[in-house]
Amino acid sequence: MKFRNFKMVDYVVYGRGSFNQLDEIIAPHRKEGRPMIFLVDHFFSAGSGGQNNSLLNRIPLKGKDKIVLADVTHEPKTSYVDKLSQQLKEEFGTVSGIIGIGGGSTMDLAKAVSLMMNNPGSSADYQGWDLVKFPGVYKAGIPTLSGTGAEVSRTTVLTGPAKKLGMNSDFTPFNQIILDPELTANAPSDQRFYTGMDCYIHCIESLQGTYLNEFSKSYGEKALELCRKVFLQKKEWDNESDDQLMMASYAGGMSIAYSQVGVAHAVSYGLSYLLGTKHGIGNCIVMNHLEEYYPEGVKEFKCMAEKNKVDIPEGICRGLSNEQFDTMINVSLGMKPLWENALGKNWEKIMTKEKLRALYEKL
Ligand code: NAD
Ligand code: ZN
Repeated sequence: MKFRNFKMVDYVVYGRGSFNQLDEIIAPHRKEGRPMIFLVDHFFSAGSGGQNNSLLNRIPLKGKDKIVLADVTHEPKTSYVDKLSQQLKEEFGTVSGIIGIGGGSTMDLAKAVSLMMNNPGSSADYQGWDLVKFPGVYKAGIPTLSGTGAEVSRTTVLTGPAKKLGMNSDFTPFNQIILDPELTANAPSDQRFYTGMDCYIHCIESLQGTYLNEFSKSYGEKALELCRKVFLQKKEWDNESDDQLMMASYAGGMSIAYSQVGVAHAVSYGLSYLLGTKHGIGNCIVMNHLEEYYPEGVKEFKCMAEKNKVDIPEGICRGLSNEQFDTMINVSLGMKPLWENALGKNWEKIMTKEKLRALYEKL
């Protein structure tokens, strides 16, 4: 038995208003003549962003520092990562660091752009496990949505020309994360639910998985308890809910760092590849039909959706061709570790193509 020796985030600060320490935190990482790049979710661009609009004004710009707005209309593509890093190389040569401020998509972009500042070729060349050759430039992640666990993970999920797969490596985790729950206030309740359910589903898949050990279990149970508090037990959403969901996301991410996700993620990857369904909502669409695999979890998930008045879309696979079903089935069955975690070593005997087709037809 070989145990995984995994790289974690170097520094973590947590607290309401901790964003104000950004200037001080990044100061030691500024290099003479090289700017800091703040990659900010386009939600916060002037004219949108609601009460958080002033976030752009709170960014501690110095010298040639630059704010780059991340277009997260679609989930990150390798072509977009290549374009952003190429532009920075042309404009500045190199930079002091990349500070990603936004949801899971922006955090993944920040990690990937940081790596591509120091690695040759295209980010598509590094989709896989431990293919990245050199450390990236300094990178910090500041989440504005809670749930994905992207703030702690050693991957960045990217859609490339041939596959949807992350740049998994020891160089991928952030050097610094700033967990300031104030930044998640005012997120629309549907978005908050879909991203929050990513965390809930991470917990169920990790805790019911065959890869579970006490490390994953400890984090998974805590994250699950926090998800239950915010999505089931509370009367109304309040500041404490933002605090709790941010820690749930962190703990949920730590739980899967030492185990794996499962059926909902494996099936949702197929939807995302073929139909461009986003991660959070895609996981919810699948989870809604997984009674056979996670009976208790699915029951509780449905209660959470009802209590938070969120409708989970139905019928998204209606009218697809055989070829399209096959594409989703092949993408999904390619996620071997997820299936093995969910169903055990004999998973291929359990999850046949026919069985998976029947499941996709239900969605
Ligand atoms: P997201 O980052 O895709 O953002 C969803 C929407 O919310 C966007 O329109 C964004 O502009 C907006 N938004 C962001 N912050 C907001 C705020 N405070 N208020 C209102 N709107 C806000 O959503 P997500 O669910 O956080 O992330 C999903 C992405 O994360 C996917 O690309 C997925 O692949 C990735 N992911 C990565 C990992 C990992 O380990 N690296 C794990 C899970 C998911
Ligand atoms: Zn997820």
